Amino acid sequence: MEKFDVVVIGAGPGGYPAAIRAAQLGASVAIIEREALGGTCLNWGCIPTKTLIASSDLYHRIKHAADLGIKPGRASFDYAAMKDRKDGVVTRLQGGVGQLLKANGVKVIKGQAEFVSRTRIAVTRQGKTRQIEAARTIIATGSTSAMPGFIPTHKRVMESRAFLDLAELPKSLTVLGGGVIGCEFACMAAQLGCKVTVVEMLEDILVVLDADLRRELRRHMVKHLKIKVLTGEAMQDITPTAEGVSGTVGKKTVTSEILLVSVGRTPVTDGLGLANAGIALDQSGCIGVDAHCRSAIANIFAIGDVTSGSTQLAHAATAEGITAAENACGQPTDADTLVPACIFTAPEIGCVGLSEQDAAAQGIDVAVGTYRLSGLGKAMAAGEEVGFVKWVADARTDQLLGAHAIGAHATELIAEACAAIRAELTAEELGRTIHCHPTFSEAWMEAAHALHGICIHQPPKRRR
Ligand code: FAD
Repeated sequence: MEKFDVVVIGAGPGGYPAAIRAAQLGASVAIIEREALGGTCLNWGCIPTKTLIASSDLYHRIKHAADLGIKPGRASFDYAAMKDRKDGVVTRLQGGVGQLLKANGVKVIKGQAEFVSRTRIAVTRQGKTRQIEAARTIIATGSTSAMPGFIPTHKRVMESRAFLDLAELPKSLTVLGGGVIGCEFACMAAQLGCKVTVVEMLEDILVVLDADLRRELRRHMVKHLKIKVLTGEAMQDITPTAEGVSGTVGKKTVTSEILLVSVGRTPVTDGLGLANAGIALDQSGCIGVDAHCRSAIANIFAIGDVTSGSTQLAHAATAEGITAAENACGQPTDADTLVPACIFTAPEIGCVGLSEQDAAAQGIDVAVGTYRLSGLGKAMAAGEEVGFVKWVADARTDQLLGAHAIGAHATELIAEACAAIRAELTAEELGRTIHCHPTFSEAWMEAAHALHGICIHQPPKRRR
């Protein structure tokens, strides 16, 4: 029987970096994957969605190119070609992951993994099973779309993975669930001219965000992308027919060609035989871990979407994978808890650290500095004036605790804020950091000044 120092189950953005890090540290490593290298992120999540969004964004910009003095004529698009490009990007990246694993000496084993004991794993492929011995195991089996029981099974009702396989964009779309994934798909489809309705039973879309960010996004989605956003009521009586899917939201009837169900993610532990390894699941079906990503069983680690309290973000899974690998190889490190979040809506959103609503809930006294992109020369030059950035700082010490950005390049801009918070900078230090001109990143400097009421490019607040 083959023996390995470290076996990783699942080759998503958590699993494959964990395998590579363990190999870098000199361990003999195998990674088991039952579907495709790269996991949800690369195949059915981050990458395919962002590839389609790149196309829809460009189309939208071309349609509004006259604002910048360009007359491209009548713009049109070929959704099947967009999908083909998306598939091509996925295939190239999949190959890249395979090459990286090979170059690092990681053995890739295709098949379904199941624990036989704490140190033995059975791998089944096409009806054939073999067993391998693992001194340490890292579980990185991820998550899948939740499909509640009240949703009818029908070809017009689908979750994100199936939607990404469509070769034709529907003319109308209802998105059930106003979370990150639902809002990203809604904006992508609406930018291509699809008639979109978002239904969210909570009082607003993206409720984890501060109210000012939500307001800004919702206004843009409704006013500029013509998306109908229905909040505060559940969709009921969902009825698919040959032509479309209808349902009721309060007194309204919503009908569209396709219903995209985007109501959350479920951890994947099916067929994993966790009980054979002595691992119990929490109430939500996730695996509990400590700061080293270690489960209740000393030689078994877990990372990414399958763990309790996961942020369900690819980069968090990667960071945890590296932490787990280092601990599995005898190098004690803690998982970093400062995880930035990016939302690829139109406009984009980036957040890190404390929000104003978290601060209020936790009774933390904060000072806030906001700067609208419309005040920046670069934003005007680029014709991208929507949005703002916001710092949340400790009112007593001036230390930066949180940052929030909405607008063009927000998912890139957030990296600077993340580094500043991690380095424990104060708002004054950030404000005194010279930023290139003209750039979008100047907004962080201006917002830090705004926090102290000394913004150069913003009129002073009127004294009473
Ligand atoms: P996964 O990526 O889910 O990988 C788990 C792997 O384990 C899979 O390949 C699976 O086949 C394999 N597996 C499971 N069980 C077994 C078994 N028993 N044996 C062998 N193999 C097994 N995150 C971001 O940060 N940015 C984004 O822009 C973003 N966009 C997203 C868009 C969509 C539509 C979706 C659905 C998700 C998005 N995410 C995004 C979330 C991100 O994809 C996940 O957080 C991330 O993939 C989780 O990584 P993971 O390694 O934990 O698991």
